[in-house]
Amino acid sequence: MDTQRLDEVLAAAGEPGYRASQVWEWVARGVGGYEEMTNLPAGLRERLAAEVPLSTLAVRAEARSDDGTVKTLFDTADGRPLEAVLMRYRDGRRSVCVSSQSGCPLTCTFCATGRMQFGRNLTADEILDQALHFRRVEAIDHVVFMGMGEPTMNIDNVLAACERLPDVGVTNRRTSISTVGWVPGIDRLAECEMPIGLALSLHAPNDGLRSQLMPVNERYPLAEVLAACDRYRAKRRRKVFVEYVMLDGVNDHPEHARELAALLDPRIYKINLIPYNPTGAYDGSSPERIEAFRAILAEHRVPATVRLTRGRDIDAACGQLAAKATA
Ligand code: SAH
Repeated sequence: MDTQRLDEVLAAAGEPGYRASQVWEWVARGVGGYEEMTNLPAGLRERLAAEVPLSTLAVRAEARSDDGTVKTLFDTADGRPLEAVLMRYRDGRRSVCVSSQSGCPLTCTFCATGRMQFGRNLTADEILDQALHFRRVEAIDHVVFMGMGEPTMNIDNVLAACERLPDVGVTNRRTSISTVGWVPGIDRLAECEMPIGLALSLHAPNDGLRSQLMPVNERYPLAEVLAACDRYRAKRRRKVFVEYVMLDGVNDHPEHARELAALLDPRIYKINLIPYNPTGAYDGSSPERIEAFRAILAEHRVPATVRLTRGRDIDAACGQLAAKATA
């Protein structure tokens, strides 16, 4: 919900200051309309219904996977596309993968979002409205900033959204931000009061290969990125999740596994090997190659897990969010 618009309309209606928090409490609980907000005067409910849409986002399309995953394509009020994904797990966990930007200014060579045009940073309200869209369907308990965009390049709005997520049912401990390794952003997370989790998209064990895959590495090379992650770990006493997308014949050689094992201290990092969801440029490593890679890491006492792919049949899996309808 556009909270500034809400404040303006409430002020114009001469309403007391506490009305805004009353409305937010209802919205955060997932109500579907103002008529349900029974502690507001009926006249005010009607006025708000006419003047303040419940969400800043309009749903353009929604797709459902056989595994229960739901992907929603939204438009902002000024017509910028973005996508968010609800993942349902057997243990009952409900995790929402949200976008922080429409498009992305970075150009990682393997990522579908990196190929679409960058639109703009999303506001805190627009980020929250993605989670609230799914909250109106069922309770949610995890949020990951792993959708479109680079959250650390929009860190003020991302953190403002995180501050309000607990009202929606998602504690800061159950919120994670994924980054390409934007050093100032990692430092902001380390210093911030909220205990938010950090995930690092690494994808290569040396600067040469990483720069090929992720141009941002020229600006923040590996050593600087890992130093920032060490600072986060020291400050927060929480491990950093490393994401390593498995590209066939590119970053999945046994030598890469050995290099990676030498690079990452298992007291600081947990490694997630991500099966690549082909979006054009590369082929994904076979399950056998991923397993061989994992085994070498384990031999070097660096445990890694292979991430479950969800929602592949609806293009909702890692790195596939690219708002195709407009591309
Ligand atoms: N910009 C942030 C947030 C996006 S997270 C970041 O890069 O961390 C999206 C995750 O999916 C990243 O780890 C990204 O590297 C990964 N990814 C991108 N394209 C992918 C693809 N086609 N298959 C699997 N993972 C992909």
